[in-house]
Amino acid sequence: MSKVTPDIRLAADLFDQLSLRTRKGQGIVRDTYGAGEQAAHDLMRATAESMALEISVDAIGNLTMTLPGRDRAAPRIIIGSHLDSVPQGGNFDGAAGVIAGLSAVSGLQAAGVMPAVDVSVMAIRGEESSWFDVSYLGSGGAFGLLDPACLQVTRSDTGQTLEAALLACGFDAGAIREGRRLLDPAQIGAYVEVHIEQGPTLVELGLPAAVVTAVRGCQRFRNARCLGRYGHSGTVSRLHRHDAVAATVAFLHHMESVWLCHEQAGDDLVFTAGEFYTDRLLHAPSKIAGETRFVVDIRSTSDATMREVAAEARAAAARIGDEYRVRFELGPTSDSPTAMMDAWLRTRLLRGLAEPFEMPSGAGHDAATFAKVGVPTAMLFVRNENGSHNPDESMDIDDFSVATQALIQLLLEFPS
Ligand SMILES: [Zn+2]
Repeated sequence: MSKVTPDIRLAADLFDQLSLRTRKGQGIVRDTYGAGEQAAHDLMRATAESMALEISVDAIGNLTMTLPGRDRAAPRIIIGSHLDSVPQGGNFDGAAGVIAGLSAVSGLQAAGVMPAVDVSVMAIRGEESSWFDVSYLGSGGAFGLLDPACLQVTRSDTGQTLEAALLACGFDAGAIREGRRLLDPAQIGAYVEVHIEQGPTLVELGLPAAVVTAVRGCQRFRNARCLGRYGHSGTVSRLHRHDAVAATVAFLHHMESVWLCHEQAGDDLVFTAGEFYTDRLLHAPSKIAGETRFVVDIRSTSDATMREVAAEARAAAARIGDEYRVRFELGPTSDSPTAMMDAWLRTRLLRGLAEPFEMPSGAGHDAATFAKVGVPTAMLFVRNENGSHNPDESMDIDDFSVATQALIQLLLEFPS
């Protein structure tokens, strides 16, 4: 049997076509349940038709393109990712996963290889919550996991409700309203997502691709506050201050040192205060700030580490609050658990890389939804320059080919 290789000409053409059809000005605009996302779905569907794949679209618009396997009754493999983008995004975020699937399937067809089980390439709707503020719209909706209240969430730019957007596209909002399950986890043997890396690790290490160990979970104090007392900046001595800014800075500085300790102990952890405000109606250059609002975002591949750091944040807030004569109200955390990738799949994918390397995913992906419902799940990262969620995303097609080749190896070894 000749070696099965990805159809890179097809992949390069699809990336070009996508860019041509969905670039608006500098960046890519593939708006969720809008014209941009639909253009990407139309392109993939037309390609799948020309490849004679079986095509289905579920009630909320997820597109599935299937190459039949030898055992059609066996749980299938899904290779998926999303086709929407953030406003003024890059061409590769999400799309790389769908195109990797089509490119691998086309490679199998060219080599005359029928996989052991059905291989479905899935173009998932609405992964970017920048249009409708709902996490994992397409994949969560496919498993009946969404809160029906999300149908009233409005699109960030036009104000259109999600329900109206679904209707306008000819889809069935009832599936979300009734929590209907459109995909049965028991019928999925594996879910594999190829995605560009959205950080600098692979560029810095000089590696083309990596296997993902886990999608980091997140514990976020979304509405943390520090309450002190406003005062004149010139007249109040240090010991009589109730300075919310000084206390919050001390708190964040302490949490940075906690992060450093965990890092030195070899724990996976990232810590961010991405928002930090004083009240612009009450603050002034000549005032001691009486209140701050901030966000504390804790992420790790270990739920235990996240819990430990969140507990330390609460303890430190109490201690530093006393020290600075202020009161911290961190409030509740919104939590998304870590999604571990499947060990068997990881091993197989690693064997497909000439330079095997594993790393966690700091960003969320649809893969987390599949892992959550118990589907054996894996991810491959492709090196990408200039970060992500911006027009300058840059993925080399040779790196994409390395990852897609590893994906093909997995398809060939997958048992029925
Ligand atoms: Zn993405």
